[in-house]
Amino acid sequence: MQTSQVFEDFEDKTGLRFSWNLIPNKQNELLKLSVPLACLYQPLRTMDQPILLNEPPIVCRGCQGILNPYCQPDLNTQSWTCCFCFMRNALPPHYHHQLPFSTNQDCVNVEYNLPIVSNVTPPIYIFVVDTCIDKENIESLTSTLQNSISSLPPDSIVGFISFGKNVNIHELGNFEMDTSYVFNGAKEYTVDQIEKHLNILSSDLRNNNNNNKQNGINGVGGEFPELKGVQDQQ
Ligand SMILES: [Zn+2]
Repeated sequence: MQTSQVFEDFEDKTGLRFSWNLIPNKQNELLKLSVPLACLYQPLRTMDQPILLNEPPIVCRGCQGILNPYCQPDLNTQSWTCCFCFMRNALPPHYHHQLPFSTNQDCVNVEYNLPIVSNVTPPIYIFVVDTCIDKENIESLTSTLQNSISSLPPDSIVGFISFGKNVNIHELGNFEMDTSYVFNGAKEYTVDQIEKHLNILSSDLRNNNNNNKQNGINGVGGEFPELKGVQDQQ
């Protein structure tokens, strides 16, 4: 089998695509990478045989990494070594005679079926769309985006950014007019400039602003992103 086929099969099976299929193991080689290390994952992707685990992930106390097939578990010492930071962690007591399923070599992609906890932040989805495509593809893309948004959980928060010659950050939830904030694609902006342009406040000012709101003074910012339910109506 060709090497490329191996990676394509892996992608079909897991929905994972990496910017590099081989990762350098030396710092100087890592610094030479022209494209950063990245991994694209498709949430909510339909899978033929999803592996569902009915318990929370086991987390490394050093780096918060999750126990996975690339970590080294050791039943003799009842511990596992994190593959990210190499810290040794204790296995939970109920795994002292059996390895967690997430260390299985076939479990490169698992889903955790966890109890719903109240007061958790709703899922946030930011759609970033390249508009430098022909009209036919734009129409197809629009339809795909609408389908994607309609399949999101109802309490999702959605944001939308499009980029071509310029970058547009769209204000959602404004029923009276289509509003977006435009940034020149040929110009570099500082975080401060972007925050000012979008009326997004730093955390200190935001806290101050919340106090002002409580005192009856109108606040600024908060237009993006927007609750999905609002966009469904648009
Ligand atoms: Zn770690």
